[in-house]
Amino acid sequence: MPEGDTVWLVAKHLDDALAGDVLTRSDFRVPALANADLVGRPVLGVAARGKHLLMRVEGGLTVHSHLRMDGAWHLHRPGTRWTGGPDHQVRVVLSTAAWDAIGYRLPVLEILETEREAEAVGHLGPDLLDPAFDRDEALRRLGAAPEREIGQALLDQRNLAGIGNIYKAETLFLRGVWPWTPVGEVADLGAVVDRARRLLDANKGHASQSTTGDPRPGHDHWVYGRAGRPCRRCGTRVSSAPQGEPPHDRVTWWCASCQPGA
Ligand SMILES: [Zn+2]
Repeated sequence: MPEGDTVWLVAKHLDDALAGDVLTRSDFRVPALANADLVGRPVLGVAARGKHLLMRVEGGLTVHSHLRMDGAWHLHRPGTRWTGGPDHQVRVVLSTAAWDAIGYRLPVLEILETEREAEAVGHLGPDLLDPAFDRDEALRRLGAAPEREIGQALLDQRNLAGIGNIYKAETLFLRGVWPWTPVGEVADLGAVVDRARRLLDANKGHASQSTTGDPRPGHDHWVYGRAGRPCRRCGTRVSSAPQGEPPHDRVTWWCASCQPGA
């Protein structure tokens, strides 16, 4: 699932390509938007809010989308072949004179009045990639449920927005925190939040998601996806297990020596 840094980069690419230009094609292929037509409207900008994408167009409208597990936006020059998947997976095509932006498999796609964006994203906690990130508010939201497992609390976008499964596992490893530790018993919650923010920020400008500083596949993570392999710090075999209640459980990874449990 794309995490905050990935969505931030998608928003930047869309913004770089489309902002300031007029839409020349508007082709929504979801039933609820079959009659929507944005042709003639300039694109004002594209922003990420947590894992949500907000494309604002003139006239006070916002195209809101979410990638969830499998969605994607692709940019192609007009007349070139689209490569994001079969045609039936295309949910929307928005074009300018210079670019076709194609949304594939978007599980969330809607048009909102821009002034009502909060109805779509207002539940989100402070955005870790927002330059004005409100750290105190994020800590307040996390701390409001002190008995909750930190591994679950970090994934809850209502607490703070942008962390997915990779940055959850890697942040907790780097802070030496066992994923099942209750939030109220995490020694330095602020340092956990700060670390997650630094990891996301360090990766927002490129497609790879390295938490080790080494972008090579197989070298880019401490524990994520490394069950049974030796911990890079201490050699202990990395553990993995689902965390949370099905069907909302997610696999987590940890080193039992570097992140001792209670
Ligand atoms: Zn270890």
